[in-house]
Order: sequence, then C-alpha cells, then structure tokens
Amino acid sequence: MDLSVVNHEDYFAKIGDDHKFPINKFGELANYLIKNKIVNKFHKPVACSEETLKRAHSEQYIKNVKNKTLDEITIKKIGFPLVDSVVQRSLVATGGTVLASKLAIKNGVACNTAGGSHHANFEGGAGYCVFNDVAVAAQYLLDRGLAGRILIVDLDVHQGNGSADIFKDNRNVFTFSMHSKSNYPAKKSISDLDVELDDNMEDGQYIKLLKFYLNQLNEENFDYVFYIAGVDIHFNDRLGKLKISDEGIRERDEIVTENFFSKGVPLCGVLGGGYNKDFNKLVELHSFLHQSCAKLI
Ligand SMILES: [Zn+2]
Repeated sequence: MDLSVVNHEDYFAKIGDDHKFPINKFGELANYLIKNKIVNKFHKPVACSEETLKRAHSEQYIKNVKNKTLDEITIKKIGFPLVDSVVQRSLVATGGTVLASKLAIKNGVACNTAGGSHHANFEGGAGYCVFNDVAVAAQYLLDRGLAGRILIVDLDVHQGNGSADIFKDNRNVFTFSMHSKSNYPAKKSISDLDVELDDNMEDGQYIKLLKFYLNQLNEENFDYVFYIAGVDIHFNDRLGKLKISDEGIRERDEIVTENFFSKGVPLCGVLGGGYNKDFNKLVELHSFLHQSCAKLI
C-alpha cells in the first residue's frame, strides 16, 4: 500500500522573496517526495470550512482572518502579511490536516506536507501560525466520534503553547511537548506533559529522553495520535538551540511513528517548523517524517 500524503499547491503562498520564513519549502518538499518515489500521488484537500474551524477558534478571529480585518498587533504576532494567498494557505493547510487525520484512521498512518501550526490559540495566531490545524482536526475527530482519547506528540523545538491553551480543560486530548527551554515562546503555557530541553542537547540524550517519555505515554490508552515533527531541533537551524544531527531526526521520526503504528493507534503526521540555514537540507529533513511513515506500510 502507498502512504497517504495530503498536499496542495496553495501551501506555497507568496509572501515576498525577502521574507524570513522559508515558504518555498512546501513546493520543494512535494517535488522531493515525488522525485524520490516516497509518494506516488497526493491527496488534495479543500479549504477548511468555517464550521470546522470553529471547533478550535473563535468566530470573530476566523472572520477577521477571512476578511483580512485583523488588527495590526495580531498580524505582527503571526509574522506573515495578511494577504489573500496567506489566508488561502491557512485554510487549505488546515483542511489538509483534517483530511490526513481521516486518512490515518483508514490506513493506520497518513501525513500532511504542511501543518503543525501549534502557536495559534482560540483567539488568535502567533509565530507563523494562523490556524491551529492539529487542534481543529483533533476536535473534529472527537466531535464526529472518530476518536475518543487523542495524544498530541509535539517535538518541534518550540513549545506547543497554542495547543496547550486550547485543550487545557479537555480531558480527551493530551498535549505532550518536548521543546527547548530557552526558546520561543518566552512565556510558556502548561501542556499535560512538558519536557524542557537544555541548549545544545545532542542526539544521545535527546533520544534517551524521547524513549523514556514515550514509554510513559504507552501506559495510557490513547486511540489516536497527532505527531508534529518539527525539524528545527537540527544543529544548523536558524531558530533552534539544540544540536540534533540528520541521523538523530531520522531516528526520532522512526521511533515515534513505529511506536504507535505497531500498537494499531492511527497516526497523523504534520510538518511543524524548520528554518535550516541550508535550504536543500531543510527539505530533506522534513521528508524524514514521510519516509518513516512510508516504511511502515
Ligand atoms: Zn518550531
């Protein structure tokens, strides 16, 4: 069976060539996955509906994004210009994670080629995140009775503060974030399980900690997993503060995906952040998520 991967050409929004965010990576990742035969054909999502977005965001915020009437402070917090292509990419990427989350139930595992916008909370976006796609999809699965107890494994180098806020009173979603202690956001939220990592941590210690906490989580009965596979833990990342190698990231992705797949727990993998100084390396690192999942089926 082929791995189900969701992708849309609108993920690659035009935000200006001199923008700090490496948005070209979305188009290049799709090319890389096809070129290297990791994926044969993509599933194409539709823009997420307002009704679905409302499961994790306020109606006012959704309207302000769609009508481009957001206040300047929130636009600045997000870090993207609020233009049509950014609105469209945010809607389609969220629809993409919702679609991938359903494909994972059918096939055991599925991925998006975007997503992991974990800094967005109920009232607004932040840190290059407009809508919290994983939160929207998780609430969608719960509301539809497609999952009962969901785990979010967030291994992006930054804390998943938006997801922690959205689900702080929801006992059916467990948020696990393993992130750099000294990194953004300065003021962290409280996840169900936070693991704070010291600067310059290397592979051995990182993998040891990951295995320890995964073993703990395996004691609980989750019936669905979202995996945010941010590659900003890499030693050459502009925004990370850790020293994880290529092999470390590959091993991490294989450990996480195999852990849940082998137990029959559906896993939806999303990209998370990545700001490597080497653009081609960045694309390759993001593909490790899809490669790890493809190996399983
Ligand atoms: Zn990040």
